[in-house]
Amino acid sequence: MSRSQAQIAMSYAPGQHFTFEGAAGACQAMPSPNATPARPEQTTKVQIEMRIDEVARAWFDKAMACRQSEANVPAPLPEFCVDVSLLDTSRTQYSFRPTAFVYLKPDRMGYLPRPTTLICSECGLIEATANPKQMGQRLSELSEECPHPKRPNDPSNCSWGQLDVIFAHWSGSWKPASPNMTVYDQATRRPIKRFAVCGKCGSRQFVLNKDQVALSNWSFSCANCGTKNPDPWVEKCDETLGRIASSIGPGGNIVGEASMEKINYAASSAYFVKSDTFITFPEGSGIEALEPGQARLLAGVIERLVGLEGPALDDAEVAAQLLAKERKAEAKEFDELLQGLKLATDNNNQVVADFMMKMRTERLANWQQAGWLQRNAALPLAITMKLQQRHEWTGKYDPFRLLVEHSALTKTKLRGEIVGGRASYVDFSNPDEWLVPPNSPQRATMVQNAEEAMRFLGVRRAGLISKFDLCKFSYGYSRVGNTPKILKHGRMMPVRLNLFPKVQTAQESRHPVYVLEQSNEAFYFQLDENLVRAWLMQPELGCADASLLSDYPNNFAAALLSSAEIMSGYLEEHDRKSNPTIYKMTYALLHSYSHYIMQGIQQFSGLDLGSIGEYLFPTDLGFVVYRNGMTLDLGDLSALWRNHHEAFLSYLRNFPTSLGCNLGNLCMTKGGACPDCIMIPEVICLTANKYLSRSTLIGRGRPDFIVGEERIKGYLQLALENARAAQ
Ligand SMILES: [Zn+2]
Ligand SMILES: [Zn+2]
Ligand SMILES: [Zn+2]
Ligand SMILES: [Zn+2]
Repeated sequence: MSRSQAQIAMSYAPGQHFTFEGAAGACQAMPSPNATPARPEQTTKVQIEMRIDEVARAWFDKAMACRQSEANVPAPLPEFCVDVSLLDTSRTQYSFRPTAFVYLKPDRMGYLPRPTTLICSECGLIEATANPKQMGQRLSELSEECPHPKRPNDPSNCSWGQLDVIFAHWSGSWKPASPNMTVYDQATRRPIKRFAVCGKCGSRQFVLNKDQVALSNWSFSCANCGTKNPDPWVEKCDETLGRIASSIGPGGNIVGEASMEKINYAASSAYFVKSDTFITFPEGSGIEALEPGQARLLAGVIERLVGLEGPALDDAEVAAQLLAKERKAEAKEFDELLQGLKLATDNNNQVVADFMMKMRTERLANWQQAGWLQRNAALPLAITMKLQQRHEWTGKYDPFRLLVEHSALTKTKLRGEIVGGRASYVDFSNPDEWLVPPNSPQRATMVQNAEEAMRFLGVRRAGLISKFDLCKFSYGYSRVGNTPKILKHGRMMPVRLNLFPKVQTAQESRHPVYVLEQSNEAFYFQLDENLVRAWLMQPELGCADASLLSDYPNNFAAALLSSAEIMSGYLEEHDRKSNPTIYKMTYALLHSYSHYIMQGIQQFSGLDLGSIGEYLFPTDLGFVVYRNGMTLDLGDLSALWRNHHEAFLSYLRNFPTSLGCNLGNLCMTKGGACPDCIMIPEVICLTANKYLSRSTLIGRGRPDFIVGEERIKGYLQLALENARAAQ
């Protein structure tokens, strides 16, 4: 099938139902063993494993705990919380094995015609078939002769096709909707398969009664005598019912736990793909600091990046620490090194002294790496404690990760080194020949426009990253719910995180992970620290931890890290109002600004929002808006700047209009973010449209996720005042 790889990895991922464009039939995607193996770099592979592990572990914990607060209710079974491949052999504990996965490029996907229940849109007759093959055979028979008992033999008006309704369960199972159902048999306490038979005339032919309002009211009646089938049309998940049937009863499980939901296969809740995106960096960029094996060293890395490094160890401390760790040989070596160094210095032998100093530095670095030496902690307690809770943040929101990633981005891209004939980063204040002819009058105008606009927009730095390297991957799915638990039939149910069905590889069958690496253009923006500080300090905002800003007058990153609170998975904390903090508000500001830029890009580049993505670096006040997709990158963002930078910048500067909303006051009183203005499709947004408010940019209201009543001042208003005052 001809689909882009990005589409296959995300929208046609295994288990997903879909329709071929222009064709009537529905299909279900299946992993293909013929997909090309993906060979991501080691650092990328480790990142993927870490991210799956992180998400799956958090999912397992949340799903397992879903009934914690309910008395006399059996806990969910671990195997219904996550795929059994994510459990230990006893199927009780979470366990992650990288060997369970195989990395594939999403260049080939199999599919089967499904669901396999047929319906005639003319006479309403419904027929379940057992598999795609049988369905095909039956379809050709039906075109010859209508089996409807009241319309003998005339197929001319009949129109058979697949019934687009399926039954889905939060365990991830699904079934075609058929009058033949699995039911729970109270007498034997077992599931049984019941083939529908009319209670009055014994006919096995039924017509579907569609309810215009609700799928849940759909029923079927005898095609022969018209008697309505008296049983509720609710299918059961065979696996679930099989496991709980014997414990159904007072104080135990309930039949509802196995009940499936009637749903259109194309409805969004029928299938949620599990995927993630991250920036890839080459070996040596410093990104290794995030790998699990490096956890001990991360504090040191963070210290350095934030500029809070403590004093170096003196010689006596080094010796004492080595001995305390029982590294006698190393202590002896260190002592000899010091003696050699002293001798060389005494003899004024500079060459040997330099050599000895180099050895000393090298040894210390090695011993520190090995964990035998520890520098005095210089990170403030508030930050150290957050670092210890780091695992509770979801990767894409983890401020420490983002700090390390921004540093790696700075090292590998933002220095603007020439790679493959083009600068890896081009600042808008210094455009290269790809954006404007060198030494031309247009260039001078372009630079002037950009610099002035940046002042008026509170932007410290902005430019084009010519190759923003991203890895997207998908590895599993859930159905009915997109989060680990869901309330159904008066009881919390675990939603299962399913891995994609296994495919046969050279050695054994493994779960496919579809990996897509792309390298497209991106815009980089960094806001003005002084302005952000001033914006956070405004009395109208009532920032709860504004004092951190004065605690760190010269270190904004330290203030932000001290303020950061856990942002996990589904950002549930965002659903209740909380105190404004400097981290939260900075995050919302960057995020709202990023959406604003995305909308500007959409206006002037011809790219739609579906092919743009965002990445935020809160501690560095930076964000990236990138061209997303695998289709040939035709340099859309370069072209936007080359041809439309003036219009683009005017659009951004004209924020009273460009950040307006047709809902006007109604939108502002609801926090200043709605689908009419600053929201974008949830699947594209980093936070599913949370931490978003036009008020952060243009004032006139107050974000709805923070407490308080006062209207805040917008960052763009502040930037405008500031720029005017400076003129
Ligand atoms: Zn018919
Ligand atoms: Zn009947
Ligand atoms: Zn709005
Ligand atoms: Zn967003």
